[in-house]
Amino acid sequence: MTPSSTSHAEPLGVARDLARYIDASPSPFHACESAARELEAAGFRRLAEPSVWDAAAGSFFVQRGGSLVAWHLPVGLEAWSPFRIIGAHTDSPNLRVKPRPDVFKAGVRQLGVEVYGGVLLHTWLDRDLGLSGRLFLRRDGRPEERLFRIDRPVLRIPNLAIHLQRDINEQGLALNRQQHMVPVIGSLQGTVPGFRDFLATELGLEADAILSWDAMCHDVQPAALVGAKEEFLSAARLDNLFSSWTGLKALLSAVVSEPTTSIPVLSLFDHEEVGSASSRGAAGPILRDLLERTVLARGGSREDWHRALATSVCVSVDMAHATHPNYSEKHDPEHTLLMNAGPVIKINANQRYATEGETEALFQAACERSGVPVQKWVNRTDLACGSTIGPLTASQLGIRTVDVGCAQLAMHSIREMCGSADPAYMIRALTAWLSEEF
Ligand code: ZN
Repeated sequence: MTPSSTSHAEPLGVARDLARYIDASPSPFHACESAARELEAAGFRRLAEPSVWDAAAGSFFVQRGGSLVAWHLPVGLEAWSPFRIIGAHTDSPNLRVKPRPDVFKAGVRQLGVEVYGGVLLHTWLDRDLGLSGRLFLRRDGRPEERLFRIDRPVLRIPNLAIHLQRDINEQGLALNRQQHMVPVIGSLQGTVPGFRDFLATELGLEADAILSWDAMCHDVQPAALVGAKEEFLSAARLDNLFSSWTGLKALLSAVVSEPTTSIPVLSLFDHEEVGSASSRGAAGPILRDLLERTVLARGGSREDWHRALATSVCVSVDMAHATHPNYSEKHDPEHTLLMNAGPVIKINANQRYATEGETEALFQAACERSGVPVQKWVNRTDLACGSTIGPLTASQLGIRTVDVGCAQLAMHSIREMCGSADPAYMIRALTAWLSEEF
């Protein structure tokens, strides 16, 4: 599908395209590689950070592991022209393989894993799991990075039978992360290769060549449209590949319409689920440094950089909690959130979200101009509010920011759900955001 046709495409077709992106992206590294392929197909050029940039006009991106920043510099812009930014995150809560993962117990071989982020642990039980991530291989004395994925169901974390915990449905399930979240990977009969040998065999490598890994588990069940009329999308990692992908589509649409006064930017960050404090997370300098380089690469000065920031705006896109029909008491009664009812502006007086009256008005205006319905949301005042990258990018860059997202259920479950009409709504709203004058 071409970028220009995406923003007005039939909603279920858009939802199916999102499902394909999610299935292609089991790890943040794959999410960035999938995005990079689409950007390159649309004419974006990958820039290397250690190089001098010949990048005064055109479409560019930088990938740093599981983070990616892409931008389009229209011809004839001033060095102090503002940035119009979409931010999202590529990581999702999951289970990650320990450096010495081999565990042998009760006649089975298991894989030691750490819990990454706020996993809804019980949803990982009795699911068929694959593995993905990146390896570093020994090549001529230097580590060489390689992405990998194993989509066979090689792992499983079995529940304990109800006969051995009769009061589980009344008492609730308590899971110890060290003891109860250890996937089974094989039986102990016959020869028992360790994880390194397993990986080497699976990927056609020499075991000795594997120096290290960033490896994680994923559900091998593909995303699906569900509901009597396919009203919903059931998938892993909607939080936040929904927003990463709709942001990507909006950028590609905005480039086709060639903005004349501002620079559209897409910033996809890793490590949001663990606090964003890393070399490529939203609490670090990655976006600030790369945007400053786009000014310098056009012959701009430090003064131009600061002038550009003064008129720039950012929309931080992450998922929101739809009102759950079985737990409606968990939501503020005046701020019911619906799936398939358009983007949500997220507001928190304590700045857990960066939205303020001005940026709320700007995003609402973008929705209205693109004919997209918009919702507004606050958490129950007696519940702690979540947060996302909006306040972090706002405090790193000092620019006006709004936090938005689409409504979903089962956030941080291994399989979440959202409205199948909402990806198309969000692309239209974000495309308008990149295209409007502020
Ligand atoms: Zn999120």
